[in-house]
Amino acid sequence: MPMMRPTDLVLINGNIITMNPKQPYAQAIAIKYDKIVEVGTNNEVKPWINKNTKIVDLKGRTVTPGFIDAHVHISGFGRSLTTIDLRGVNSIKEMQQKLEEQAQKTPRGKWIFGHGWDQERFKEKRYPTKQDLDKVSPNNPVTFRRVCGHMCVVNSKALELADITKETKSPLGGEIDKNPVTREPTGILRENAMDLIQKIVPEPDEKQLMEACVLACQKAVEAGLTSVHWIIDSPTEIRVIQKLRAQNKLPLRVYILIPVEFLDFFIQSGLHTGFGDDTVRIGCIKILADGSLGARTAALKEPYSDHPETKGIMLYTPEELKRLVIKAHRADFQLAIHAIGDRAVEFVLNALEEALSRVPREDHRHRIEHASVLNEKAIRHIKRLNLIASVQPHFVVSDFWAADRVGPERARWVYPFKALIKGGVTVAGGSDCPVEPINPLLGIQAAVARKTSPEEGITVDEALRIYTINAAYASFEGGIKGSIEAGKLADLVVLSENPLAVEPERLKDIEVEMTVVGGRVVFGERVSV
Ligand SMILES: [Zn+2]
Repeated sequence: MPMMRPTDLVLINGNIITMNPKQPYAQAIAIKYDKIVEVGTNNEVKPWINKNTKIVDLKGRTVTPGFIDAHVHISGFGRSLTTIDLRGVNSIKEMQQKLEEQAQKTPRGKWIFGHGWDQERFKEKRYPTKQDLDKVSPNNPVTFRRVCGHMCVVNSKALELADITKETKSPLGGEIDKNPVTREPTGILRENAMDLIQKIVPEPDEKQLMEACVLACQKAVEAGLTSVHWIIDSPTEIRVIQKLRAQNKLPLRVYILIPVEFLDFFIQSGLHTGFGDDTVRIGCIKILADGSLGARTAALKEPYSDHPETKGIMLYTPEELKRLVIKAHRADFQLAIHAIGDRAVEFVLNALEEALSRVPREDHRHRIEHASVLNEKAIRHIKRLNLIASVQPHFVVSDFWAADRVGPERARWVYPFKALIKGGVTVAGGSDCPVEPINPLLGIQAAVARKTSPEEGITVDEALRIYTINAAYASFEGGIKGSIEAGKLADLVVLSENPLAVEPERLKDIEVEMTVVGGRVVFGERVSV
């Protein structure tokens, strides 16, 4: 991307929300090369106009800093665009119909993938089983991930290929659900048990992976994103990112989050957080401490209210978690630790506290990803350790059943965005796509106009902040992006309406009309140039 010299741009007659407290609003912006050089009135940008300058008349439209998604699985998103989308499916029957359609056009023996189902939506009020899938797909192995990604249902063909029988023991940190009478696997696999399937599924080759990522990045810039904190599945994805960039197919900026499984590999390579440039940078080491609320694998302190025999699953012992955290911290990595349940959050806080006391580091910006079930004490602890809460507000909408899982008392403290902000914690926003939709405006609406714990709703200004300047802070890039200021990268988005002026229920209907990354228009033709 930066190899091609962008045309100089001047945007005039706009309603520009800068996210810069020293100059919150402006009318015009001048861009030279990939940077903003002037923010002010039409008159003030005039000196920057010459015969090669492209002038965009915004005609009163709103401009904000480009959106930053602090938590997104780009390759998974790309692949989800080519697998069966089961979000919004309201019965097992409907799921079978979708599978039947796909099975008819898939060659015998080839895998069929799907994602996004949620048993809470099903009329049948139960989990799907292998038999449900076998009925319509006896010859093709099938794996359908639950919406949270922490559980899947597979058919008999898939179980057979993975050699999962009634004798197979559940792996550590996972569960193979079995029929209580026959002991036959039901087809439901939780957490680490999904690896038994994952390891036999043919990996997409590099070309397929590149295609999927191009598709996902395109959708991302269409949604107004100019930077993503990209959670990779394996280092081969870094190869893909580099290749896409070299081929001029990477339309946005990337901060790479690396699974902890590859920590040793990265320590040996000498790379750590911050290596790279404004387009592609090595970011955090990502650790999964627990599962999800939806799959009842998020580690809670007290049992699940709708399933009192379980408190969820910690994926590491506290000692093992501590060891990993300290190792990554010592190697100068920023950490991004997935913790959803209050028990997982507490273990993570303790591990980080110990790492920071053993190896003090002033500006670590370690992050807790999700930080879903909290309490006042946990929020104070997060603040005391100066951690970032990396949240995905659209969960508020999708997890409409959360109060059943945790009961009314704890439900008050599920996704407490306002309390975090009031407590002085820096909150960064993301999507967790493909678990949730990519569109940040959906997240902004979810954060502002929430139906559950409405007292935790935040203002539009705060919501814009978490998807721009705060998310930039979460990658140590607050000095170069996240607000519209002279000297910063020219990453911005033109919106059809002003988010600060529309009804909260209509935030999601605002359209992205143009996305600019480093002075280049990467999306949008509707704005006349
Ligand atoms: Zn995620």
